[in-house]
Order: sequence, then C-alpha cells, then structure tokens
Amino acid sequence: MTAPFDAPLMTADELARELADPFPEFGLWTKKIPFLSPERTARIVERLKRHAVRSTNGKGCIEWAAARKAIEYGDYGKLNFRLSGGRHCQEYVHRLSWFLKTGKDLPDWMEVAHSCDNAPCFNPEHVEAQRRLANRRKSAENTNRKRRGCAAASQAAA
Ligand SMILES: [Zn+2]
Repeated sequence: MTAPFDAPLMTADELARELADPFPEFGLWTKKIPFLSPERTARIVERLKRHAVRSTNGKGCIEWAAARKAIEYGDYGKLNFRLSGGRHCQEYVHRLSWFLKTGKDLPDWMEVAHSCDNAPCFNPEHVEAQRRLANRRKSAENTNRKRRGCAAASQAAA
C-alpha cells in the first residue's frame, strides 16, 4: 500500500494489526447466512477470505479476486457452492457479505448496494440494503428468486 507524502505513517501498533489481520472489516461477519447451516456458512467465510484483495482505489475496498460475472451494473464477484442436499447454487459475494453482516433475509423490494460504487467490492462496511429503483426491479427480483430457490432446496434437504 502506498501513501501520499503528507499522509501520517502508520503507528507500530497499526502496522502490527494490519500484518496480523489484513481485513479487520471481516470482523463484522458475525451472523449466519439465513439459508445455510452454520457449518456451510463457515466454509463460505473461509472461501471469501481466501480470494479477498485490498483495492488500491483509496476507498478501502476489498475486491473479489476469483470468478466474476458481468451484469448490467458492473463486474460482480460470484461464488458457487453446494447446499447440504448437494444442489448447486450461485450467489454474488457482495450479497453474501451483507447476509453475513446482518443474518437477515432480503425482501424483493430491496437490493444490496455498494456505498463505494465499486461492483467487485464485498467489504462489509461498503454493502447496504436499499430500496430498489423501479428500473432495476426486474433483474434484482430474479436474483432474489434464484437465491430463494437455493433456500427452499436447503430446507427440503435438511
Ligand atoms: Zn468498497
């Protein structure tokens, strides 16, 4: 990480913390993903951490370094995983980050948005649920529906 000349240097304490835990923001992930078991949630967290890269955009973004999916509004990170019944599911990593932060489900009229405006980012501090804009309703409803399909399969398998 480079800093401009007039930026204060890190203190030794800050440096030690950064070296010990490069992504302290992940400490906000205290909840279970609503449609997964605690065990499956823990494995998702492991995989999310493995592909995290600190962005150099100066906003503190944490970007997804593995597979991405280009949709209307940018390149979103995605993760494939299996439910306990063996069924294959796919979810965007910024949404997984929000689920892990809140433990909540997402109604159709809401979407997970980026306060940083950076699609591949999944920093839990940068993702928030917001009321969906009418012109985006369709694509995001599809996303929710697909995910609910996963949830239903998960419950059926449990
Ligand atoms: Zn960000």
